Amino acid sequence: MKVTVIGCWGGFPKAGEATSGYLLEHGGCRLLLECGSGVVSLLQQKADLGDLDGVIITHYHYDHCCDIGPLQYARQIKTQLGQIHKPLPIYAPDGEFFKLLKWEDYTYGQSFSQDSIISIGPFEASFIKNVHPVEAYSVKITCEGRTLAFTSDTSYFEELNDFFYCSDLLISECSFYDYMDGTKAGHLNSAQAGMLAEKAQVKKLILTHLPHFGNLEDLMAQAKQNYSGQVLLAEKFMEIEL
Ligand code: ZN
Repeated sequence: MKVTVIGCWGGFPKAGEATSGYLLEHGGCRLLLECGSGVVSLLQQKADLGDLDGVIITHYHYDHCCDIGPLQYARQIKTQLGQIHKPLPIYAPDGEFFKLLKWEDYTYGQSFSQDSIISIGPFEASFIKNVHPVEAYSVKITCEGRTLAFTSDTSYFEELNDFFYCSDLLISECSFYDYMDGTKAGHLNSAQAGMLAEKAQVKKLILTHLPHFGNLEDLMAQAKQNYSGQVLLAEKFMEIEL
């Protein structure tokens, strides 16, 4: 599968960029993982919004889901123009925002929880509940024997090591530097991202959900203190073939 980073910022997008959003493609199927602010605009440089086959939202914090609204309007307009002919499934946790995922006949919600396994074309997604101020999930997406692991937002917890074990790529949030403790906020720091990658024995680590302060290169160096594999910083339109 091909993974394209659409947005990699935590909280709010840098000018001209986006918060969480990742495009997964394989065999003509396109899955959008997270739809944060700025994602709908940038995604169109990589795929037509009418060509999406599904969307996964890990939780209802705005930096992961707030472009769902514009995406729904895009699907409406493209349907009315006769360019697309089927509603878009949006997979997300249940909760007070879930009902908003249905937009007339253009999009609809499908809820998931810890034990769910979702098939979207060639992709199979499974979930583990995170430690975060709102209900949130880490996601593992498998496609033809390759596995993408994605933390979304979470404090560190040991079960993640097994859940992500031997994944081909871990995209880990990295909201803080190693001298900061993100536990109360429900986030990982750079050292914890490295530790998770090492314990889970993943083949490669990409740091994302990046902070708007400090020297981002330091995040990589700090993660490498705990992880012997390759560490990269996510950036707009970075492409990884798995
Ligand atoms: Zn969050």
